[in-house]
Amino acid sequence: MNVFLDIIAFIFGAAIGSFLNVCIWRIPEGKSIVFPSSHCPKCGKSIRPFDNIPVLSWLTLRGRCRDCGQSISIRYPLVELLTALLSLALFWMYGPSLTYLAAFLFTAALIVITFIDFDHQIIPDVISLPGIPVFFLLAVFIMGVGFLDALLGLLIGGGFLYLIAVGYELLTKREGMGGGDIKLLAMIGAFLGWKSLFFVVFMSSILGAMVGIALILIKGKDMKYAVPFGPFLSIAAVLYLFVGREMTHLFLYRSLP
Ligand SMILES: [Zn+2]
Repeated sequence: MNVFLDIIAFIFGAAIGSFLNVCIWRIPEGKSIVFPSSHCPKCGKSIRPFDNIPVLSWLTLRGRCRDCGQSISIRYPLVELLTALLSLALFWMYGPSLTYLAAFLFTAALIVITFIDFDHQIIPDVISLPGIPVFFLLAVFIMGVGFLDALLGLLIGGGFLYLIAVGYELLTKREGMGGGDIKLLAMIGAFLGWKSLFFVVFMSSILGAMVGIALILIKGKDMKYAVPFGPFLSIAAVLYLFVGREMTHLFLYRSLP
């Protein structure tokens, strides 16, 4: 493929990643994501345009504010790099098309959700609630997911897991999956279709269990230590975009006669 277009997809991803950092930082605080422009959280000085270039500015400033020397978390360039790489990978997968843009928008929403859930143990409704109808429509009209397939994904993702969560709470008197996870899975199911839910739930549970066990071994945390589940659902949903359909066929249909 054309290397020039690849570079554009990468730079586009990095620029969007820079905006995602703003969302991750401001949405939990209920602040506007458009205004004011980026500024240093310590000294309040506006970030100059040439200091706001994704990844590169962080490197040239060696991770410090030009005005006050306050260190800037390495997570900023890492989120930009992650978004850029996913944009490139999706571009390779879908080519220059609306499907690429829709899949990238879905991935970008999941990146924001992942880091906010990681920091605050919440999945913001301002993303997941409008995300359910928006990604449902994108699935049907852009991604070529069947209407019924997307609708069942939404209903099963939302409703079925809601029942499991209620059952779990009744049995154990402990809250299992949070309400935010259920809305997130409704959004994922709506975009990827109901068959994706096998892969997404299975893969996120395995990833969550692996990280949970690793934390217990490393830090000696007890089993009740809450690991946010949103990041694992998100990782599994993005994985599904790349390999999920094949994996689902492999496990679900090969075993059938
Ligand atoms: Zn500063």
